[in-house]
Amino acid sequence: MAEHPLLPFPEDWTTALVLVAHPDDPEYGMAAAVARWTAQGRRVVYALASSGEAGIEGLDPAECGPLRETEQRASAAIVGVDEVEFWGFPDSEIRNTPELRAAITQAIERVSPEVVLSLYGGPEWAPGQPNQRDHMEFSAAVLDAYDAMAIDHRPPLLFENGPHATHAVDVTEHIEDAVRSLSAHDRYLSVLDPDNPVTEQARTQVDMTTAARDDFGGRRASGFELKRAAPRWVTDTDPGHSQWYIDRFRTMADEGADLDGEARMIDAMVGRGARILDAGCGPGRVGGRLHTLGHRVVGVDVDPELIAAARADHPGPRWLVGDLSILDLGGSAPDDAEVTEPFDAIVAAGNVMVFLRSGTEAQVLSRLAAHLRPDGIIVTGFHTNRDLSLADFDAAVEAAGLYVEHRFATWDLRAFHPDADFAVSVLRLRTSPS
Ligand SMILES: [Zn+2]
Repeated sequence: MAEHPLLPFPEDWTTALVLVAHPDDPEYGMAAAVARWTAQGRRVVYALASSGEAGIEGLDPAECGPLRETEQRASAAIVGVDEVEFWGFPDSEIRNTPELRAAITQAIERVSPEVVLSLYGGPEWAPGQPNQRDHMEFSAAVLDAYDAMAIDHRPPLLFENGPHATHAVDVTEHIEDAVRSLSAHDRYLSVLDPDNPVTEQARTQVDMTTAARDDFGGRRASGFELKRAAPRWVTDTDPGHSQWYIDRFRTMADEGADLDGEARMIDAMVGRGARILDAGCGPGRVGGRLHTLGHRVVGVDVDPELIAAARADHPGPRWLVGDLSILDLGGSAPDDAEVTEPFDAIVAAGNVMVFLRSGTEAQVLSRLAAHLRPDGIIVTGFHTNRDLSLADFDAAVEAAGLYVEHRFATWDLRAFHPDADFAVSVLRLRTSPS
């Protein structure tokens, strides 16, 4: 998504857990952002898989480990972090093992953060700059541990600090904090490069990881890539909510209620046998009807219970469990053309926009846009008097490279008016031919 400006990092949280492999990992890219957050009164906790005991050349690991722990605690304190834990996994031998995943899960359960910040796990920072194996294994373990947690126990947001940023934190006021924080790894840095003063080494590194960004208004920023986002559907509803929702629509269907309004509108706007993505499909009501009308439908929802109901009640479409904020159908099933081909229409009905994680609306819309044919449409419908205002939605539409082509007050196309409490919006790509 490099073609879009970076989104501001959400700040509607109180506790963040920084998960890394070694001492100094937080300081290389995150400390300036951490300084900003703790200055705002937020709680940030550091957890480190190893004590970095193999990190100082010529120093016995038995001496090195405790020294690096001391330097790490000093470094954390400078940016307002008083809680630092070390798990004792072997430095330079970090592997994505059940033991490491268990330690990650336990830390998440103990700290109970709304935001998890992890290490970059890709193979290269840039062409010819390979990532460390410890970092890649650790990052994979964090994602695996997160995905294995019960859906309603997962922290709402998981980011990695790396080169493919989706979000940025303005750290203009906290550059010096970050330099001092990295400089606290005094012994480590002075052995690493004896000819270059520690503070100069730290400044060079911090300047590199907090450079002014053209894609963030020219401001100095720390970049983070959103890897997981639990929607409000998961975090803000009661246990049993999914089954309640399934039963409610099954009952209405049994009573002969007209549940096809959304599908009729979409059907009128596309050609015969169109490819349609039902985004946030729930138990499959809209996509199921569109399939019956002869369209080729893929449905995606984050809630496995709803997907199971869709498969049971509406066989035919492809129903997939997936997170809309990181949707990548091409990456998840590269050889499956039925899933990966771009879509003629994408529908997000049933208040999907309202149940997203707050602050991820633009990211979700840009992931949907990435799955759309150039002349395709995205159609959303949601109540505008709940947690997402129409103004915020329109800002997200703009940030995602889309525009509103039509807006109605209902799925049967009554005119939109200022007092309407529901909005059906037809979106197109700004670059589309017409
Ligand atoms: Zn490291």
